[in-house]
Amino acid sequence: MKRFLLLLLLFLAGCQSKYPIERARYVAPLDTTVAYEKPRNFSTSKGLIIIDPGHGGEDEGTKSLTKPVYSEKSFNLITAKFLVSYLRQMGYKVMMTRTDDTFIPLKTRYEFANNQKPLLFVSVHYNAAASPEAKGIEVFYYRSDDNKDRTQASKKLAQSTLNQLLTVTQAKSRGVKHGDYAVIRETNIPAILVEGGFLSNEEELRKIKDPEYLKQIAWGISQGIDGYLSGQRQGI
Ligand SMILES: [Zn+2]
Repeated sequence: MKRFLLLLLLFLAGCQSKYPIERARYVAPLDTTVAYEKPRNFSTSKGLIIIDPGHGGEDEGTKSLTKPVYSEKSFNLITAKFLVSYLRQMGYKVMMTRTDDTFIPLKTRYEFANNQKPLLFVSVHYNAAASPEAKGIEVFYYRSDDNKDRTQASKKLAQSTLNQLLTVTQAKSRGVKHGDYAVIRETNIPAILVEGGFLSNEEELRKIKDPEYLKQIAWGISQGIDGYLSGQRQGI
C-alpha cells in the first residue's frame, strides 16, 4: 500500500510538472520581449532596411478560428524582432515602424519608410481565412505601370523571399502575387508584404505559436532580403 501511495504521489508530481511547461509554450509567443536582441555595435555598411510589423494596438489583425483566440499582431512583432536581429548581424542598419503593441496608421508607416530612403521595405503578417483548410506562405508586391523598375525590383525581392521561406519551413507555397496594400503601394522603394501562414489552419497555428518557428520564418525572410540585395550589388 505504501509503495502504491508513493507511486501515486510520483505520478501526480509528474503531471503537475508537465502542465507549466505545456502552458508556457502557449503563452510564450505572446510575450513580445522574447529573445529580442537590443542593437549592438554591428557594422551597418550594407545599408538601411525598414521592417514593418503589421497591425498593433486596437488593430489586432487576423485571428485564429478556435479558442484560445490568437491575434496576428503579436506574431508579426515577434517575427519582425527576430528578423531585425538577423539583419543587424548580417551588417544592415534596420528601423522598425513599431517596436511595441501600438496602433500606427498605414500612412505614418509608408511616409516614415519613404522619408528614411531605405534600400527596401518589408511588412510582416500572418493570414486567416474562413476555411480552416487554407494554408501556406504567400508574398505580395505592388504592380504599378507608372514605376516599372520598382515593380520589377519588388517582384524579384518577393520571389527571393518566398524561395528562402519555403526552403526553411517546407510550408506550402501560395506564390508571389500582386497585392493592393497601402504600405507596398505607397512606398517608393522595393517593397513586399509577407504572409507567413494561416492562424485559421490548425497545423500552421500550432507551428506559429512556437517562437522557434517564428525564428525560421524570420531567418527565411532575412535570407531572401540578403540574397536579393547581394544580386543587386553584383548587378544581377
Ligand atoms: Zn495582417
